[in-house]
Amino acid sequence: MSNHPEIPYKIYLEESEMPKAWYNVRADMKNKPAPLLNPATHQPMSAEDLSAVFCKELVDQELDNDNAYIAIPQEIRDFYKMYRPSPLVRAYCLEKRLQTPAKIYYKFEGNNTSGSHKLNSAIAQAYYAKSQGLKGVTTETGAGQWGTALSMACSYFELDCKVYMVKVSYEQKPFRREVMRTYGASVTPSPSETTEVGKRILAAHPGTGGSLGCAISEAVETAVSTPGYRYVLGSVLNQVLLHQSVIGLETKAALDKYGIKPDMIIGCAGGGSNLGGLISPFVGEMLRGEASYDIVAVEPASCPSFTRGKFAYDYCDTGMVCPLAKMYTLGSNFIPAPNHAGGLRYHGMSPVLSQLYHDGLMRAVSVPQTEVFAAAEEFARVEGILPAPESSHAIKVALDEAKRCKETGEEKTIVFGLTGTGYFDMYAYEKFHDGLMSDYIPTDEELQASFATLPQVD
Ligand SMILES: *Cc1c(COP(=O)(O)O)cnc(C)c1O
Repeated sequence: MSNHPEIPYKIYLEESEMPKAWYNVRADMKNKPAPLLNPATHQPMSAEDLSAVFCKELVDQELDNDNAYIAIPQEIRDFYKMYRPSPLVRAYCLEKRLQTPAKIYYKFEGNNTSGSHKLNSAIAQAYYAKSQGLKGVTTETGAGQWGTALSMACSYFELDCKVYMVKVSYEQKPFRREVMRTYGASVTPSPSETTEVGKRILAAHPGTGGSLGCAISEAVETAVSTPGYRYVLGSVLNQVLLHQSVIGLETKAALDKYGIKPDMIIGCAGGGSNLGGLISPFVGEMLRGEASYDIVAVEPASCPSFTRGKFAYDYCDTGMVCPLAKMYTLGSNFIPAPNHAGGLRYHGMSPVLSQLYHDGLMRAVSVPQTEVFAAAEEFARVEGILPAPESSHAIKVALDEAKRCKETGEEKTIVFGLTGTGYFDMYAYEKFHDGLMSDYIPTDEELQASFATLPQVD
């Protein structure tokens, strides 16, 4: 049984205990993440190059490998107070159901209207755009969580928000679209006639349902061609991991309050922002030689960037207009099989996490989607929360570990990130319940074909 019988079901921090600065793990990394490169010249992107696309202050954060702490402006902290601190939940009910001696905690980020952790960075990015005197921002959204978070943040700061939403999602998730419009965003199905790149793609592929890569290219084109606008991105970038460190800082503060030291920290990995944010303070301790943890990234078997990708420079978008990033990648034109319903479908991975993984500070596993949905259901039925499919990747690995501990009698402490809720993913749950969900795992030949398109960078 627990050595800390006084540990409550939910560990909340006081408002005064909330982080006042983000933690920048790059400052403690000996091997820094590789710089972004200009796609035409293959030279590192300067602050000036990046400022054409991104807000000034965010460019500084993107390039800052030295400052360990960056103060969170008061306006952002005030917004955080509306939905943070988020609870660190001790999963007593789950432990009991599993009859495991493991102690399971999860950090729940789904308690806001966007339904995910993405609001933590959206509000920061909107704030810096507003401080720079911009009129608005553009972005893309696939499943819709990022677009929703950004539209909430923009309405708060009275900024215009133009979202390019992948056309199939636009049609399949009308409610996500309406949430964004409720917050005043304009939502355009992508590809569209509003951009040159959109027109080109429509001419070449009439009736296409679009892709994330194409929507990124449209959003970037609109940002650079509209005075007073910049482009913002919800994952992958160093600045996004920085903002998401609020998750890890709160988690660490809550654990420290009760003298709990985790053995294993688990998170799902799409572009790497929630995992990077959750683990940053813990990895910082590892980098400084103060502690060690078993850190696990969980990705879908149908989009296995870490476990089967290459560590190489690649394009961040299919239109090849964005800078090149060195990361674990499946190739920029890799698209997961159409029956993949579990999210986390980005072809690449955060350069910070890629470097940490390459240096052996964390490990990664991939899991098939039917097992992910089975774990989601097992979790929902005892802990109550209806998890997002993305988050359920982490649940799956936490459950497996807790079940293993039952066999071995280990009293391991497991912490995982529960990034969001799954109310807009009921078509995917329906497929699972009806037995219509399958597990498509790409073949080595398919991955080789995609690797063949990686840019040659020397
Ligand atoms: C976007 C999203 C993810 C994956 O993105 P990361 O950048 O890898 O964190 C995970 N969970 C939820 C709920 C999301 O909306």
